[in-house]
Amino acid sequence: MYKIIHCKRAIFGDGKESKGEYSVLIKNNKIEELGDRGSIELPPDTEVLDLKDYYLLPGLVDAHMHFFGVPSDQLHLLATEDESYRVLRAAGEAKKMLDCGITAASCKGSSVTPNLRRAINEGHVPGPRLVAAGEFICSTGGTWDHMTFPLDWAKDTGMLADGIEGVREAVRKRVRSGSNIIKVGMSKGGVEDKYHPWGDNPWNEVSSYSLEEIKALVHEAHLNKLKVSGHCIGDEAVRYALDGGIDVIEHGYAISEATRQRLVDENAMVVTTISQLHFHNEAAEPYHYHDYMKDIFHTHIQQMKIDFEKSLKLGVRYALGTDLVGYPTHPPDAAAKEFEMVVDWGMTNTEAIVAGTKISAEALSLEKEIGTLEKGKLADIIAVKDDPLNNIKTLQDVKFVLFDGDVVIDKINQ
Ligand SMILES: [Zn+2]
Repeated sequence: MYKIIHCKRAIFGDGKESKGEYSVLIKNNKIEELGDRGSIELPPDTEVLDLKDYYLLPGLVDAHMHFFGVPSDQLHLLATEDESYRVLRAAGEAKKMLDCGITAASCKGSSVTPNLRRAINEGHVPGPRLVAAGEFICSTGGTWDHMTFPLDWAKDTGMLADGIEGVREAVRKRVRSGSNIIKVGMSKGGVEDKYHPWGDNPWNEVSSYSLEEIKALVHEAHLNKLKVSGHCIGDEAVRYALDGGIDVIEHGYAISEATRQRLVDENAMVVTTISQLHFHNEAAEPYHYHDYMKDIFHTHIQQMKIDFEKSLKLGVRYALGTDLVGYPTHPPDAAAKEFEMVVDWGMTNTEAIVAGTKISAEALSLEKEIGTLEKGKLADIIAVKDDPLNNIKTLQDVKFVLFDGDVVIDKINQ
């Protein structure tokens, strides 16, 4: 079964674009041929989708989000809410993401996502291609093990792992339950932690794990051909991530110049996650955040901006991730806002598109399948009205979505 899409201009996701009107021929779920309009010979019975006034891009990829399946302003409900409700809620969010042109995403921590991924892949519910970490891995008293939760609950989640054997076992359990990336909390101190010496100051955050534990965890994950993503705020966590072989560094701010240089020299990948803090700032008034929370989010986003601008200048490689956690405050279908924010903070539109398609696909280990408009890749394709090289906000209003070769949304011809 063939389809051909004609467009005003194609933006390939690798930093290049077509000069003029362009066409993409799709066979089943793969890109078969690309070329200037009129240059491709059509096989018989090819379905023609003429999007002649629109710009074509590869589907957007969110390299860091969470399907928690509880209201984002009540994350403590993770401790009590029934799992069947959580997964159904997450499935609703997954469909909305796909409809907005986010055709692949990595859930960097949630127990429900490996099974959501299964159901999507088996065709039971619609949603993006998912890479799922499953439950976080965290040391006792580490990144997500807040002292306000009962310790028994934290143990019951399976999140806690300590010692070399403990972290190896935790990775093996994730493999068993279908995770296809491993997420580990590298730095101690949440953005609302006011009880510890490291507390809420990004510069004071310390490592959650010893280097030996990190190396063991990474070794076990790599034996299983899985990448490891590390939540890293503060210099020590980022250094340990580099020393320990962590594949994808999340957040990556409040770091020294020497560490920044290492990120460049070692070709590390850092995931942006501006949206999370941005949407907290947006929610602060309507959701009646405490003043200390407002101050903390403000401090973190300011520091993140300083580091982003310096790191971008030095040549750090960024993938785009949002760290969105769900409705109502952090809707995962608002992921394209991240493109606008990285442009506000200094990326060119082309750099932002490459970061949120090609490089994010690499963060998901899916660079051979998706991330660019290229012969042989899966047909995950979107269309927008304006030229995204002039107006990056147009990515927040996707008009057409083709996923795995099938039309999911067509606001142009329907
Ligand atoms: Zn996150």
